[in-house]
Amino acid sequence: MEDSYDCIIVGGGPAGLTAATYLARYRRRVLLIDAGSSRAAMIPRSHNHAGYPDGVEGLRLLRDMAVQAAQFGVELRNGCVAKIARGDEAGADGGFIVTLAEGETLQAHAVLIATGVVNRRPPIEDDVHDAALAAGTLRYCPICDGYEAGGWDGESGGGERRIAVLGADGHGVAEALFLKTYADHVTLLTLIACDLDEHDRADLKRAGVTWETRPASAFAFADTAVTVTLDDGEEQRFDTLYPALGSNANSELVEQLGLDLDEERCIMTDRHQRLGMKGLYAAGDIVAALDQISVAMGHAAIAATTIHNDLRKAEGKTPDR
Ligand SMILES: Cc1cc2nc3c(=O)[nH]c(=O)nc-3n(C[C@H](O)[C@H](O)[C@H](O)COP(=O)(O)OP(=O)(O)OC[C@H]3O[C@@H](n4cnc5c(N)ncnc54)[C@H](O)[C@@H]3O)c2cc1C
Repeated sequence: MEDSYDCIIVGGGPAGLTAATYLARYRRRVLLIDAGSSRAAMIPRSHNHAGYPDGVEGLRLLRDMAVQAAQFGVELRNGCVAKIARGDEAGADGGFIVTLAEGETLQAHAVLIATGVVNRRPPIEDDVHDAALAAGTLRYCPICDGYEAGGWDGESGGGERRIAVLGADGHGVAEALFLKTYADHVTLLTLIACDLDEHDRADLKRAGVTWETRPASAFAFADTAVTVTLDDGEEQRFDTLYPALGSNANSELVEQLGLDLDEERCIMTDRHQRLGMKGLYAAGDIVAALDQISVAMGHAAIAATTIHNDLRKAEGKTPDR
């Protein structure tokens, strides 16, 4: 495997880019392949990412991280990885064969999967969706921006805002209850006719969250508000809508390798980010954990250091003890 990369990283979000910089600084030959749909690119401005008192735009963070990785010699490529196969099963003498969507194959001693997840979206046109996201009338991550959605960043303090959560299952109920940290008026909406179970209703009632059993059929976004039309025609106005419809994990590559996923199709790793197959590692949202930039970066630091040390061991560069 003379032409082999030490590590191919699949995914160029905060996890992949952090690992790339670490590995390059461990003087490893690294290729990062990214399909260009990082969730971080959707962040208008993050205020909970440490080190940026005025907040940071997701795109700027990604751009700066890519510049940093390239500066230490990481090869960055746009593209989509279609398959990862173990080298010994594909005629090579170890490591992995990585196949791109266009058919090109590449070799690596180690592979880091940092492919992230994709939020399920409500039925809203793409341009309306993106404008509402930029305006803060549509949000996806209460942990990230519930503070701003509740108005706590303004001079008069918060609490008065009206927040709607869309998704009347356990996930939506949990998100609505969480948002009571920030707002007095929280309403749980549903996209399909369904009723909550007795325990959910009791929890919501106790917390002062209202809920609608009439499905929401349309969403109209203005500069600072969203009007939701229910299926009987009634309109309700909110300051912010949080879809809580779950997400789809980009875990096909791991599934192809026959590895286990959790019930949300996320990857389970050990505490060194290993996947139970020699040379394979994972980091970021794709791993079953809290979906946050700081967690993705933490996973990546651990994964990159494990990869370097595992390679050192394979190269006979560690003591035999
Ligand atoms: C609207 C919004 C606001 C958010 N705000 C915050 C915030 O303020 N603070 C915070 O900490 N977190 C926030 N988050 C969460 C944060 O964006 C994620 O936790 C973070 O982006 C995860 O990084 P990642 O590298 O694991 O995945 P991602 O950033 O999603 O990157 C994964 C990358 O892998 C690529 N990929 C997938 N499959 C393949 C393949 N087969 N081949 C090649 N490439 C592939 C994708 O195209 C993508 O570019 C927010 C999320 C959203 C949606």
